[in-house]
Amino acid sequence: MNGAAFFLAVNFVIAISFSLVFAVVSTRSRSRTAALWFAAGFAVASLSAIGELLVAYTQSDRFWAICAFATVLGGMILLRGGVGELYGRKLNLLLAGCVLTAGIVIDLLIYDLPRGTALHAFSYQAPFALVVLSSAIAVLSSTRRLVIDRVLGGLLLGTGLHFPAKAGLAIAAGAGTTAKDYIHTNYALISQSSTAILVVAVGLTLLSVLVLEIMADERSNSEKDELSGLANRRGFENGVRVAIASAPKARHAVIICDLDHFKSINDTYGHHGGDLVIRAFGDLLRASVARSAVVGRIGGEEFAIFMPNTTAEMAMLFAQALRGGTMGITVSALPASFTVTASFGVAELSPGSDHTDAMRDADSALYEAKRFGRNRVRQARDFGFSEPGQVKAVK
Ligand code: GH3
Ligand code: MG
Ligand code: MG
Repeated sequence: MNGAAFFLAVNFVIAISFSLVFAVVSTRSRSRTAALWFAAGFAVASLSAIGELLVAYTQSDRFWAICAFATVLGGMILLRGGVGELYGRKLNLLLAGCVLTAGIVIDLLIYDLPRGTALHAFSYQAPFALVVLSSAIAVLSSTRRLVIDRVLGGLLLGTGLHFPAKAGLAIAAGAGTTAKDYIHTNYALISQSSTAILVVAVGLTLLSVLVLEIMADERSNSEKDELSGLANRRGFENGVRVAIASAPKARHAVIICDLDHFKSINDTYGHHGGDLVIRAFGDLLRASVARSAVVGRIGGEEFAIFMPNTTAEMAMLFAQALRGGTMGITVSALPASFTVTASFGVAELSPGSDHTDAMRDADSALYEAKRFGRNRVRQARDFGFSEPGQVKAVK
């Protein structure tokens, strides 16, 4: 086995391995369709190595050469399909079919031309360059702007441009006089090894894009409460930290609320009935808060709202509105006579202070609201410094 044949075998194994990995990743990825496009792309492209070997070692070299060309081009078009799915630049199937057909026709027409001529070399490489550059444009023009997206865009651009460079090299170094000679030339060795490197680089980068996406999804799932659809305690804490970091000197407020007599709701309507009430209250909070607010379900029937750039007085008004809204909650599965109320504790963060102090103050105010009869709003009196129980009896 000569060097180029060895690289063909290596490329085959690499492409098949990527195909399998993308098939596995597709089972976990939200971009399942893209991962399947990639799996199909690498599987189809891997067949080209077999075609190239059959060109050199069988009599039907024309047929196998066209097959090798078509599988590489087809694989690249499938990768373009996956890139299109990921980056919101969907592949036009009709156009893709035309490019594949035109590529095959061109390859047939130039088959008998001497290798190493400009006409042959550039015509052969042009369809590859076109398809890969179209993938590069899809990535670079998309709204996804993470570092990994830039890396992928740059890599695809480089890969697209390496095809005309390869054509130049074929002219300069010679690519054999016939298709059968190709595999024995130095050009084939350079061409196959550079392809191996680029295939690995593009494959790993595409894989990274999908894996980073899965990791981000896992993280957001671990910060979300399934029942209410709001952030859970961890998500709430992280959201608050981000909000404070973006305006460290501003005044912020926090509200903690707790459904009243929830145990008796569970006792009367069952645990499922209680769950529906939690969900309905979550919906009310989500619909009521500003986009900049952070809302979370931080306990069984306990919720917290962080309101950036908000004074305690503004938060008090908002909490009063929420209190009214809570009494208006209806749950279709429960009797029309069903009503629920909630109690609210409000506190303001002193600028530069940790939000946990304000959370503790809001909790004390909530405790007072419960103690004073529930279905009311209380404000912690001394922002950031109150002892439990020191609250302002606004209502
Ligand atoms: P209070 O007015 O003082 O808040 O009284 P309460 O009954 O609401 O308070 P308590 O904290 O004693 O009871 C809360 C109950 O909420 C106890 C628990 O069984 C129930 N609970 C906690 N998480 C869930 C949940 O996810 N679903 C349902 N249905 N019930 C829950
Ligand atoms: Mg309660
Ligand atoms: Mg409670």
